[in-house]
Amino acid sequence: MNDPLGRTVDYLRLSVTDRCNERCLYCMPEHYRGWLPQKEILSDAELMAVVRVAAGIGFKRFRVTGGEPLLRPGIVEFMADLAAFPGVESVQMTTNGMFLPRLGDGLVRAGVRNFNISLDALDPARYRAITHGDVAPVIDGIRQMKALGCKVKLNTVLMRGKNEDQIESILDFAGALDVVVRFIELMPVSMSEMLSEENFLPVGEVRRNLEREDILDPIEDALGFGPARYYRLRRRGVIVGFISAITDLHFCERCNKMRLTADGKLRPCLGNHLETDLLPALRPDVDLDALEELFLQTLAGKPAEHLFRSNYQPGRVMTAIGG
Ligand code: SAM
Ligand code: SF4
Repeated sequence: MNDPLGRTVDYLRLSVTDRCNERCLYCMPEHYRGWLPQKEILSDAELMAVVRVAAGIGFKRFRVTGGEPLLRPGIVEFMADLAAFPGVESVQMTTNGMFLPRLGDGLVRAGVRNFNISLDALDPARYRAITHGDVAPVIDGIRQMKALGCKVKLNTVLMRGKNEDQIESILDFAGALDVVVRFIELMPVSMSEMLSEENFLPVGEVRRNLEREDILDPIEDALGFGPARYYRLRRRGVIVGFISAITDLHFCERCNKMRLTADGKLRPCLGNHLETDLLPALRPDVDLDALEELFLQTLAGKPAEHLFRSNYQPGRVMTAIGG
């Protein structure tokens, strides 16, 4: 399906929960307790109704995220239903990885082969300082998914003074396991104290540092469906992706996605407050025609670019929107 600017939009990110077992500095405020009441979270049947409509109008790629998607009860069965749905060509998950040692096998059996796993540090103390969590099960989960033959990408959000010194070890780790690493610029998507200029580390600076001791060969083939630019480090052999949402003025020209929040709001852009409430077409009963109408209206209003460079003030925490 094309949006009014002619961009092909065929990628839907589904947030299946706003809950999380971690509290990353850039994602969730320190004392956040604003979880949505469970009855406001879309049920499996409601999520699948949205998938049905999206697939019907040409969406082919679906990423399940959150909050932490592996906290959702019945997530493995949901992923199996999603992967088997007619018209769904690709099913992926973004996770903090902590529950992969427990659920990874089942997810692969459910048909999920593609995982983005967040890893902001390898050093346990540094990982804990950023996420409030434990890195050991995450590392086990990454190894396990790779051993199960999955495509794995590591997501590292760059923060000056917090994890610059982790970049080298993350690259070594990724190289040894033959997985891709993506460096992501900090975005004002959440109501977090962390989002200040002094914490911002531009992707370009990391790239220039890497270029001092290696050659970055651009990879033209798309390695994912998102906006990352990929390069192979010639000496290290590792593939790195850069997600420069803030510093790349052309970032949105390639945007192909929409987002569904855990409570049923369809968002045409992460960096904009625009959202359409799908609940009137989902409750008390699902109305597929009305749902399709709301979907098409939202797509027709997809903005040309995000507002992150215009003093954007996020209205909700990232876990409620879905990263
Ligand atoms: N809990 C899962 C995880 O951490 O992978 C999935 C949800 S999380 C919101 C999705 C992705 O968004 C993660 O890779 C996370 O690092 C990224 N993210 C969250 N807040 C961000 C921010 N302020 N700027 C850039 N990326 C952010
Ligand atoms: Fe949780 Fe993921 Fe947000 Fe971290 S980035 S607080 S793991 S949802």
